[in-house]
Amino acid sequence: MPVCSICNKQSKPELLIAYHLRGLQEGYFKCKHCGKRYSSYFTDKKVRNLQKQLKKEQGGQKRLEIVEQIKSNMAQLKLKHG
Ligand SMILES: [Zn+2]
Repeated sequence: MPVCSICNKQSKPELLIAYHLRGLQEGYFKCKHCGKRYSSYFTDKKVRNLQKQLKKEQGGQKRLEIVEQIKSNMAQLKLKHG
């Protein structure tokens, strides 16, 4: 189990989602003991649309392209908001 860097206690990771402005969503974990939040990932409408597209793709080059787009978009969101 992960140990909280603030209170040094272990808590079971439970993914929560916070809804921010302009369609931004944040997946995060929260320490049950001290309430410290740990951001896991961010998605916006664009990323979620790409994720939907990805589910329809069965494989091949197109799928790889979408995966790369999702990765780079999520990395940018994390830089901006994380
Ligand atoms: Zn804690």
